[in-house]
Amino acid sequence: MPENPETVLEIDLNALAHNYSVLRSRIRPGTRLLGVVKAFAYGSEAIGIARKLEALGADYLAVAYASEGVFLRKAGIRLPILVLHPQPNGMEEIIETCLEPSLYSPRILREFIKTAQAMEQKAYPVHLKFNTGLNRLGFWENDLEWIDAQLQGTDALEIRSLFSHLAASDDRNEREFTLGQLKAFEGVVKNWEQQFKSRPFYHLLNTSGVFNYPEAQYDMVRTGIGLYGYSNDPETDSLLKPVSSLRTRISQIHKIEPGEWVGYNKGYTAPDFRVTATLPIGHA
Ligand SMILES: *Cc1c(COP(=O)(O)O)cnc(C)c1O
Repeated sequence: MPENPETVLEIDLNALAHNYSVLRSRIRPGTRLLGVVKAFAYGSEAIGIARKLEALGADYLAVAYASEGVFLRKAGIRLPILVLHPQPNGMEEIIETCLEPSLYSPRILREFIKTAQAMEQKAYPVHLKFNTGLNRLGFWENDLEWIDAQLQGTDALEIRSLFSHLAASDDRNEREFTLGQLKAFEGVVKNWEQQFKSRPFYHLLNTSGVFNYPEAQYDMVRTGIGLYGYSNDPETDSLLKPVSSLRTRISQIHKIEPGEWVGYNKGYTAPDFRVTATLPIGHA
């Protein structure tokens, strides 16, 4: 930072508040809103964003990894924090700092039960993730019986929610596919309600899901990119305000002739007379 005091990443918390209220206005009053603050709050600044979301009344936060949640707890964030992509070696940390893991595979479920029992937990809140077509993380619907058998043997866990993640909710051409995902999730919910006595809450939608499939909002929505001010859809994008601006000061300007190049290995060829600017940012 001292090298280039004129290079600044500016975070506009009023823009965040604006985007938050746009998203809130698209869901029912009783639907919970989770703010996704993984990956440094989408490359902005996780603590400031999380504090503001807490103040605005968000119900939940989510991070990808346990270490990101620990970082927020150390900064004093008290909201429930869902850890979307926990690893076997992060389980103790999760319990020590009251984070709520997504359990997405037999290995992760077993590992978490083992840790929770060793740490003498009762009804520790966890979330079950189901794969309905994104094919990254998640149990399959027909894992329910196996899950049931695991849970029978312990009172260390409480299933707080069931969820899934949409692969193409922003793509109008993939409407059929997305409706298939909604249906698959509905199937998971129905089967759960037949097999289990406990009533967790349900969530499925990301930002573009909120805009395009509000009928599937269930009990909570998980919004990331919309909070930061972006949507793939021009209409909804115009309602949102970008939260981050990156500013710096130009170091040098050149005028180059048609056919001249800029950068290593002639990375850019000028089609006509061009003015180029070199910025004191990036790869030094
Ligand atoms: C990143 C993520 C989100 C947020 O999606 P956006 O499209 O940015 O709103 C929601 N749910 C899960 C599981 C995620 O990993």
